[in-house]
Amino acid sequence: MATNGTLGRKLRMGIVGGGQGSFIGRVHVTAAVLDNRASLVAGALSSDPERAKASAADYDIDLSRAYGSYQEMFDRERALPADKRIDFVSIATPNHMHFPVAKAAVEAGFHCVCDKPLTLTLKEAEDLAAIVKQSNVVFAVTHNYTGYPLVRQAREMVLSGELGEIQAIRAEYIQGWLRSRLESEGQKQAAWRTDPTKSGAAGCFGDIGTHAYNLGRSMTGLLPDKISAHLKIFEPPRPLDDYGHAVIRYENGALGTVTASQISHGRENDVRIQIDGTKASLEWHQENPNQLFVRRNGHPHAIYTRDPNAPYTLPLAKASCRLPSGHPEAFFEAFANVYRAAYDAMELAAAGKPFERVNTVYPNICDGVEGMYFIEQSVASSKADGAWLPLKHPLARR
Ligand code: NAD
Repeated sequence: MATNGTLGRKLRMGIVGGGQGSFIGRVHVTAAVLDNRASLVAGALSSDPERAKASAADYDIDLSRAYGSYQEMFDRERALPADKRIDFVSIATPNHMHFPVAKAAVEAGFHCVCDKPLTLTLKEAEDLAAIVKQSNVVFAVTHNYTGYPLVRQAREMVLSGELGEIQAIRAEYIQGWLRSRLESEGQKQAAWRTDPTKSGAAGCFGDIGTHAYNLGRSMTGLLPDKISAHLKIFEPPRPLDDYGHAVIRYENGALGTVTASQISHGRENDVRIQIDGTKASLEWHQENPNQLFVRRNGHPHAIYTRDPNAPYTLPLAKASCRLPSGHPEAFFEAFANVYRAAYDAMELAAAGKPFERVNTVYPNICDGVEGMYFIEQSVASSKADGAWLPLKHPLARR
């Protein structure tokens, strides 16, 4: 079978979530197969067993492997011969199901690609990290914005000292879709995101603030020290925040801000980050992801384009491109870059070889735990009128 990996076969994927009417499951599947290194062979696609089976045809999953629940999928797949059963599970359910599904998957020996935020609570995240540590599974978390070639380029430039010492990070994720109370009109994605039993302690800050925070952390490698946050509900009686900002002090003395909104009219998925160093500053927007702005006082502003053949393109950024410059690459490709890096590790594991578990190219369980710590400390700080609270989790990585 043709495959682009090192294993001589494709990895076999099972998915939980992604049923009819859902959003991110389809993105996971498209990204997962983009490089011809995996194929989707099984799924527990919905919380409703009938809908789960009815959704199988949308993905060409054989009915014999369209399961009514994730427990059934893990039990039945484990009973299959090793050359048939799934290698990994992608988790694309609402947040409250991440922990039970991920825990069961890891305990069954399946690698995981789990969506963010990692779990419903920090305690669950820490418990899951302990379970993963005891296992031999690869665990990736889809903080997918880290997969953009120019985000990786920026990280390499920062880490090599090209910007000098980093002194300020401004990260934003601005949306407008929850300006009205869509949750009261039966909009499914709005309904669970505004329900604390399914979303977690935060709404907007957990859903998209975590992406902005993760981007600043991963692009600079700076370790956080303290956080002061204010979260607001601007569409009551919605029970969770739909807007918020946080100020972060980093260990090196840098200052960061994270602003997240779901109530800004007309704003779509405006993730943007600006980083100021002593030698240069940079700016990247995910709605224009094939350009990176780099500025130095007294010099013309530089625009780095996503160009695998440009002499300035650093090795990881180059390896993260699939198309020549000028053919736009975007969300699917960046998502696929998270999968691609996780596959490198899964293929090593399948060959019985050791693989890196902490300093991975893909966002891993440590980043997931950090995201949960960010959420819990933001909520706690906001409840204490912006009190400064610690933000460096013991699992935080550079
Ligand atoms: P959604 O409501 O559109 O889809 C969720 C799917 O999960 C549905 O098919 C639902 O039936 C299924 N599901 C629920 N409980 C299940 C269970 N017990 N077993 C099997 N399936 C079950 O939600 P969404 O917008 O796709 O979000 C899903 C997850 O992805 C969330 O955690 C969200 O935070 C995350 N997300 C990430 C990104 C990203 O860019 N990384 C973007 C959107 C959503």
